[in-house]
Amino acid sequence: MNPVLAPATSASLIRREVAGLPSYDPGADPTEVAVLSGSGRVIKLSNNESPFGVSPVVAEAVRKALADGVSRYPDPTGRRLTEAIGKSLDVPAERVVLGNGSENILELLCQAVLDPGDLVVTQAPGFSLHETFPRVMGARVQKVPVAAEFGFDADAWRDALAVGPKLVFLANPCNPTGAMLGAGQLDQVVAAVPESALLVLDEAYGEFARPNPEYPDGLEALRALDRPWIVLRTFSKAYGLAGVRVGYGIASDSTLIQALDRVRTPYNVNHPAQEAAIAALGDHAHLADTVRRTALEIARVTERLRDAGLRVVPSATNFLFIDTGRRSERVARELHRAGIIVKAWREPGYETYIRASLSTPGDNDVFVRCLTEICAKDKP
Ligand SMILES: *Cc1c(COP(=O)(O)O)cnc(C)c1O
Repeated sequence: MNPVLAPATSASLIRREVAGLPSYDPGADPTEVAVLSGSGRVIKLSNNESPFGVSPVVAEAVRKALADGVSRYPDPTGRRLTEAIGKSLDVPAERVVLGNGSENILELLCQAVLDPGDLVVTQAPGFSLHETFPRVMGARVQKVPVAAEFGFDADAWRDALAVGPKLVFLANPCNPTGAMLGAGQLDQVVAAVPESALLVLDEAYGEFARPNPEYPDGLEALRALDRPWIVLRTFSKAYGLAGVRVGYGIASDSTLIQALDRVRTPYNVNHPAQEAAIAALGDHAHLADTVRRTALEIARVTERLRDAGLRVVPSATNFLFIDTGRRSERVARELHRAGIIVKAWREPGYETYIRASLSTPGDNDVFVRCLTEICAKDKP
């Protein structure tokens, strides 16, 4: 006989791990900010998107993909794209996985690998999903704080890794700080990751850092290792394709890819997205142009904000982590009134920081002017 069960409420059905999760903070809604500021134009600096858009080749590929019709399911294997990625990186396509954004692959990794109670090590301040997805699985998350001046704390990483995590999420460069680990520092982490763990190197901003000779290409650093690893990359940031949602991972071996294939929804990357990514991968000039223009703006805006007395973390990415010296929620609200959206950071210890992606030179000038005016007017 069935036991008598108490009637459910929606709340009572939700797993404890899920009920306790914070909701993702995408930043303020542009439509609301447009109303608040009374201006039709909003400068959105909250999601690290590319202000330079996609290459014309990509726009044409998307148009063509839509013209092909969207009544058919996309290729569930994404074969043409995994082969193009494999070819460009000299890796067999069997070691490439596609995701609905690389966030999707973070999620799949947690589903495939984590048991309740497992330990995950990542960094703080960090990317919220490196914590959220493990917690969904009932895993514990230990966050390694950055060193002074947002440096890499080798000792803290070594101690955390010695406790025996199952998964290690390391972003290089790091979001939200924009800081990057040099080759020697990455080697230190890799050497300290226990053999029982899977190392996940999240290179969402790698394209921006690669021109720097100090930046270690993660794939080259891990390629020869005789242990499980995966490098995650995305078309959302430097390629300017955030809206179509496509990212990829390159793994140490095809066994890991096959496990991710079993847990993923079969049609996770849609047809226009696959076509857009194939086209983007082929347009080296557009990528190089975006990276070059971004670096110029990062250098220029960093200097102007520092001249105005603000602390700015040196960035290897397309965004800046800025200490406003006062509650960042208040600063963000003032910026909203001026039609500018940034992310006020909420992690403990960083409540005076904002993260702002850079845009075109004209928009960046508006941002610098508004931020420095707000900070000059509002004494902490
Ligand atoms: C933006 C970002 C991603 C991935 O974004 P997708 O759009 O899902 O590819 C992954 N990791 C970090 C640290 C990011 O900032």
